[in-house]
Amino acid sequence: MPGLMQHWSLTCTRILDHAARNHPTREIVSRSVEGPTHRTTYAEMRDRALTVAKRLSQTGLREGDRAATLAWNTWRHMEVWYGLLGIGAIYHTVNPRLFPQQIAWIINHAEDRLLFVDLTFVPIVEKIWSELTTVEHVIVLTDAANMPETGFPASPYEDWLAEADADFTWAELDENAAAGMCYTSGTTGDPKGVVYSHRSNVLHAMSAAIPDMLGLSARDRMMPVVPLFHANGWSLAFSCPLAGAAMVMPGPRMDGEALWELLDGERVTVTAAVPTIWLMLLQYLEKSGKTLPHLERVVIGGAACPRAITKAFEETYDVRVMHAWGMTEMSPLGTVCSIKPEVSGLDGEDKLDLQEKQGHTPFGVEMKITDDAGVEQPWDGKTFGRLKVRGPAISQTYFKNDTPIVDADNFFDTGDVAHIDANGYMQITDRAKDVIKSGGEWISTIDLENLALLHPHVSEAAVIGVSHPKWDERPLLIIVPRDGCTPDASDILASFEGRIAKWWMPNDVVFVDEIPHTATGKIKKTALREQFSDYAFPDEA
Ligand code: AMP
Repeated sequence: MPGLMQHWSLTCTRILDHAARNHPTREIVSRSVEGPTHRTTYAEMRDRALTVAKRLSQTGLREGDRAATLAWNTWRHMEVWYGLLGIGAIYHTVNPRLFPQQIAWIINHAEDRLLFVDLTFVPIVEKIWSELTTVEHVIVLTDAANMPETGFPASPYEDWLAEADADFTWAELDENAAAGMCYTSGTTGDPKGVVYSHRSNVLHAMSAAIPDMLGLSARDRMMPVVPLFHANGWSLAFSCPLAGAAMVMPGPRMDGEALWELLDGERVTVTAAVPTIWLMLLQYLEKSGKTLPHLERVVIGGAACPRAITKAFEETYDVRVMHAWGMTEMSPLGTVCSIKPEVSGLDGEDKLDLQEKQGHTPFGVEMKITDDAGVEQPWDGKTFGRLKVRGPAISQTYFKNDTPIVDADNFFDTGDVAHIDANGYMQITDRAKDVIKSGGEWISTIDLENLALLHPHVSEAAVIGVSHPKWDERPLLIIVPRDGCTPDASDILASFEGRIAKWWMPNDVVFVDEIPHTATGKIKKTALREQFSDYAFPDEA
């Protein structure tokens, strides 16, 4: 039977066309890398992106070619994405916090032909230039006046762009064509390239924007603190223009004071980042006495959101917390903890209990939990299992590797361990490789970390399993004390009593000045396990 509806290819540039036509004056405000605040609109951004697309095609970039970006969240970074998308080339965000050798490896593996780089990261390119095998030219995201001397062939972006105009038509593309790439950090083995398609980005942006997910609207002013280089920028470069939301880009400064200045001065209504960022903001607010009169919602994901952060935002600053979970392989959004009617009567500690959960899925993400043998487990809020997902914006293979990463039913094993309750709220209890196996039973390190963070003298907490002659592994609690505090180990452990099963109690507490983090701000458990590999619990010493 012939199709009754039009075929309308779901390409990403349609999102910018929509925003430019329907929300032409909506602002994109950026703190530029050079310093001053920059303001543009969706209409202007579309013109500039068309110019980028024309300039890229003059340069000889073709459909399917890759170009890397080493850049902060600014209007320039976003228009480069859309320019690349507009000729069917692929934006490849590279995390500048990786080691220079890893950056070079990733760029070579992706075979990026061009490299767009912020001023901040020019020294990284200097370091790795001799190792880059495919990059033909570097474009520094600045103007001629701010252009530094470089030891590699480079142009200032604004001059490079001035050689083209906006008289260009987006390429006609198959919606299944590749659109973007992001490598997962991969704690073991080489990083793996996740490739998003135009269709997956568009479908994912529609799912992400709906009220019970990020709930974006044309009345919102969204500040994506999460960098575009972290897990497809949490879709915000697509879901904001799709919804007509204004954007406030923090550029290179993500300290508490800098973020507060934008939240306040730009009347931001919704923002998104990992918990460590919010910890810094809350500490700044506490010290300075500043408040958040405009902010309505904060999306917190990438790592488990500590209860104390949720409590402070909701109870002290009247900001609604939306705990979210996702993965680079999932475009990235998997769940958001928004309030369904079934739980709308909860308040106080019961509501905080709910908000510790990572939440429920949007349309387009199916999830289940299984035991190690693959048998599906009940949604009873207690039984842990391996969390598996499938959907149209979830990877099935990695770049340059045809081996499927999904099972016969298309489910991708997230590597997370979780339970799901009868209302569909999922809670991560661990990474499969971090969970502590004590006497054949599992102990959730995240639950213990969350409890430790409730103690007023604790700034950061991590729990790892340390080998134990009798129990196989037992929990060791590692604490960074709050500035000026000298917490007592037995006092912290006493605060756990009655809140966990007795056999979950950590066998010891150690205090450190610093806990190592990954390039995306998560606690680096592998490094901690190495650091404490010779550790012996006091009762065995
Ligand atoms: P990445 O692809 O680097 O964003 O890492 C994805 C992983 O981060 C997930 O598989 C989880 O282990 C972890 N993660 C993301 N969000 C959360 C969250 N809200 N709570 C706990 N873990 C999370």
